[in-house]
Amino acid sequence: MDKKSQQTPQPPSFNKSLFGADNNPSNIMPAKLTAESNLKFRCHPGVSCFTNCCGNINIVLTPYDILRIRRPLNLSAEEFLLRFTTPVYLEKTDLPGVKIHLDENGRCPFVTEEGCTIYPYRPTTCRYYPVGMSYFHAAGNEGTAAEEFYFLVKEPYCKGHEEPKEQTIREWRVDQGIDESDEMNREWMEIVMRRKSFGLQATLSEPAQKMFFLASTDLDKFRDFVFNSSFLETYDVDAETLTKIKTDDIALMKFSCKYLAASIFGTKDLLIKPEKVKARVEQNKNNQGDVEKQAMETYEALRRDHDLLKKKIEVQKETDKKS
Ligand code: SF4
Ligand code: SF4
Repeated sequence: MDKKSQQTPQPPSFNKSLFGADNNPSNIMPAKLTAESNLKFRCHPGVSCFTNCCGNINIVLTPYDILRIRRPLNLSAEEFLLRFTTPVYLEKTDLPGVKIHLDENGRCPFVTEEGCTIYPYRPTTCRYYPVGMSYFHAAGNEGTAAEEFYFLVKEPYCKGHEEPKEQTIREWRVDQGIDESDEMNREWMEIVMRRKSFGLQATLSEPAQKMFFLASTDLDKFRDFVFNSSFLETYDVDAETLTKIKTDDIALMKFSCKYLAASIFGTKDLLIKPEKVKARVEQNKNNQGDVEKQAMETYEALRRDHDLLKKKIEVQKETDKKS
């Protein structure tokens, strides 16, 4: 980022969360686009607005975003969440997630004058911009296919629209690595969008919300929950899946979505063992089933660990300053 762009006023608050832009509808072009629609846009370090869009924004992270960013940073999920994120409710839902925690100047912690320091691993929403994707699933039609379409977000400060490069949205997606992100995000996004279609009058129980948060943000803890609780006594999980999710984070992430879909919407993605069903009904009558209790305990343990880790990081920062 050169001096000129540093002096450029910061863009207005813009919600890039979950590939939409509901907070600033005046900048959404009123046209439904398809993958074959033309997109005249190019973003590169030579634009006068370079990195201006990396501030005053809400960047909600998907489970895959978290996994992809923290690996090269060599951070545990806990440490990554503590250092770089803030809890947030996913837009128009009762589902808790995280967004990138901006610095004291309202800037993304990963941006420098040279650009994005995590560019190959940047979040899905950063890849999509300035294209938004709507994914509508009308309430009451949860079993039907959702309608997907694209739209263009045109912020006045963004000079990429004045660049001569033209491509289709399909080509743009390939260029930005969006297909891979979408594939990895698909099951989780379906849960979020399906929940969104229920409207805000639907409220998940607190333990269920905490479990959604845990499974969506910290796969290490979710793995611990699966293998070191009564989870496997309760759910029918085949041996092949079990072997995979022990070590494969992507397989675990996909599995966590099956679990969330089954526990939130009652889908058949993950079945409770027959002998447990009866006991489960009894437990549910008391509104605090075995799994939910376990979720609560896991969450409380997570909170305690977070507090400890926070202290450790503060001590480390002080040590770094002195050295
Ligand atoms: S992650 Fe990278 S591209 Fe996204 S806002 Fe931060 S610096 Fe910009
Ligand atoms: S062209 Fe648009 S997307 Fe690229 S840096 Fe400028 S404001 Fe951001």
